Amino acid sequence: MTDPRIVPERPELGPRPHLGYTASAIDRAADRRTDAAALAKFLKDDRAGGYVIGGELVVMKQRGEAIDPLFSPAEAAAFGGARETIFLGLLGPAPRFGFGLDPAAIEPLKARNDLKITDLRTIAVQGLVDAAHLPPLAEAKALIGWHARHRFCPNCGTPTRVVQGGWRRDCPSCKAEHFPRTDPVVIMLAISGDRCVLGRSPRFAPTMWSALAGFAEPGETIEEAVRREILEEAGIRCGKVKYAMSQPWPFPSSLMIGCHAQALSETIVIDRSEIEDARWFSRDELAQMLGRRHPDGLTTPPPVAIAHHLIRGFVEDGCHVLD
Ligand SMILES: [Zn+2]
Repeated sequence: MTDPRIVPERPELGPRPHLGYTASAIDRAADRRTDAAALAKFLKDDRAGGYVIGGELVVMKQRGEAIDPLFSPAEAAAFGGARETIFLGLLGPAPRFGFGLDPAAIEPLKARNDLKITDLRTIAVQGLVDAAHLPPLAEAKALIGWHARHRFCPNCGTPTRVVQGGWRRDCPSCKAEHFPRTDPVVIMLAISGDRCVLGRSPRFAPTMWSALAGFAEPGETIEEAVRREILEEAGIRCGKVKYAMSQPWPFPSSLMIGCHAQALSETIVIDRSEIEDARWFSRDELAQMLGRRHPDGLTTPPPVAIAHHLIRGFVEDGCHVLD
């Protein structure tokens, strides 16, 4: 029997890819959010640029094959349908913004051949823009989506006002201050020796398998959420939980918290209301899936997703991911 702690090399997989939406180069410059004069000056700066987003759609410039997601404040204003302008921060000296548009204002733009309009998942998976744009696009999309869902005070129902460069909404009636929310989601692999559990959601492509995942609930630690989700979805009891990495996931406003967990049982009992299927995969089979050479065409999620990196870590490091 192979000792799973002996780590085989996987040169066929090449270098580990970058995790999508992470490692932003933008300085959020949070101290400027309360400085109305500085924000007004930034909007007039020749170097200012921003991302134009309405609902799930991102508007970008297209010239031939080249796609540029940045617009000047004046270009963004010319589209009409402006909602919030959000100060994302500074890229070196260049101010960066998110420009929220009424989704209805995007419809007539779809006919223009100098624009490319699509959703952020497609942009990330197809690599339509330089990867450096993905973190600020995620920041802008999550914030613009939060504004769209929080126009009224949850305390008293009064329409709220945008303040602090788009980082807070205040209620003029009950004086409550509302801050953008990030929802924690745990995503994890249950590991036993040389194998781990992957599952399938009915909305996945037919050949794709991924890590189990679910929202952390109020009053729960990350470790407790990991153990509960694996038990609920696949019937596996887990012990030790080791944090691996995290990823902003602006669909609409999650923070994916990636973990590896030590399985204490092996019999899978699937909750069909949550997932379509789940089963154990060996590291060798996972390596075939990552390398797109599985005999049945099975695949993992692409490198833009944290599940890819959790799987990759287990394939390369085995149980050491639980050390
Ligand atoms: Zn209120």
